[in-house]
Amino acid sequence: MTDPLDITAPNLARAELLEGGDRAGNHGVFKLTTTKGRTIFALGIPQDGPAPQGPTWVYLVEGSGWSMVDAGDTSAYKHIVADMAKTGLQPRQVQRVFITHGHWDHDGGVAEFCRETGAEVWAHEAYEPLKAFDGWLRQGEAHRLLKLGRQSSPQTGEWAEGRQWQQRYRDHEAIRKTIKVTHPVWDGRRCGDIVCWLTPGHTADELTILFDGFMFTGDHVLPEITPHPSVKTTYSAELQDSLPALYRDASKQQGLDVYLHSLLRVAKLGDMATILPAHRLLNREKTNLVSAHRASQIMEHHLQRMNRLVQILGQDKQLIHHLTVHLFDHRKLEGGNYSSAMTETVAHLEFMDDCGDLMIEGDGNVSWKGTWHYKEKMMALMDSARRS
Ligand SMILES: [Zn+2]
Repeated sequence: MTDPLDITAPNLARAELLEGGDRAGNHGVFKLTTTKGRTIFALGIPQDGPAPQGPTWVYLVEGSGWSMVDAGDTSAYKHIVADMAKTGLQPRQVQRVFITHGHWDHDGGVAEFCRETGAEVWAHEAYEPLKAFDGWLRQGEAHRLLKLGRQSSPQTGEWAEGRQWQQRYRDHEAIRKTIKVTHPVWDGRRCGDIVCWLTPGHTADELTILFDGFMFTGDHVLPEITPHPSVKTTYSAELQDSLPALYRDASKQQGLDVYLHSLLRVAKLGDMATILPAHRLLNREKTNLVSAHRASQIMEHHLQRMNRLVQILGQDKQLIHHLTVHLFDHRKLEGGNYSSAMTETVAHLEFMDDCGDLMIEGDGNVSWKGTWHYKEKMMALMDSARRS
């Protein structure tokens, strides 16, 4: 067994484990003290349902009074109350909640938490209008490559289970409609010493939050696992009208290219920032306190994925279903994971296609043109991360 407190980070003065939690980190509670003498509590809040990514790490930050980063899923409130008792804080002491992004395991608990405590809600200034954006529908019906991908997939139970996940999303959508953002966040918006960055790509409304040399990354940068990149999308005219002008062009808010550029921004911080992720802070008795260099590793991972696609394609034509099955290990293709695996495959194909390296036929067959523009583009991005 490793010591979960065997950790160092440039801006960490002290770490205490107030509660060990289970092997996945559920109900684990950390107290971190920054070198400026301020406290950050990390709570491993369990999820209601299968959670291969582990609990959602919810953070309590001693900045401008007490702030909370994320609120777990729709079942989280009772767990937050129970775990917060170990910190000596009361929920009502939390003055504001920052939402890192609009996924159910991050903002699902916000409505109840704020109803009970009266805390303010800080979220990306596109968060509120984007609640009307149904990613599932839009991706399924309007995305050319995803449509081809789904057509190429045999109708098995995989999609049915995918629909169960969709039900979870729909329940969450209903609850999040009741969240009222009191403080819309733009890039660089501050709350005392807390600074917010907009880092779209995993979702269009992703925030990363800097405080005392720590960076709360939501699902933008995670240790152990690689966050799911979005695919490009389009917004309806109505949705565009409701969005602040900066965010109306959906192609600048979603897709792998957007995600990589947001990663680059974090990667440039290198050793200067320590990542406090929304998942996998503690897993199997190991604490994952990584630096912002982790963002470069994730960029490298995506380059490898595209290299692998080139290998699989070789001289042949392949359907997107076959590429998905070859790219992901069988375990990762079960149940609702199949749809995420396919969208992730599509995110990579889309990037390579935009670079001009692929031929995609009307029947869904993909072939490689033998060019390496995607690789040149990736190398340039990664060089830029290294140069800083
Ligand atoms: Zn997410």
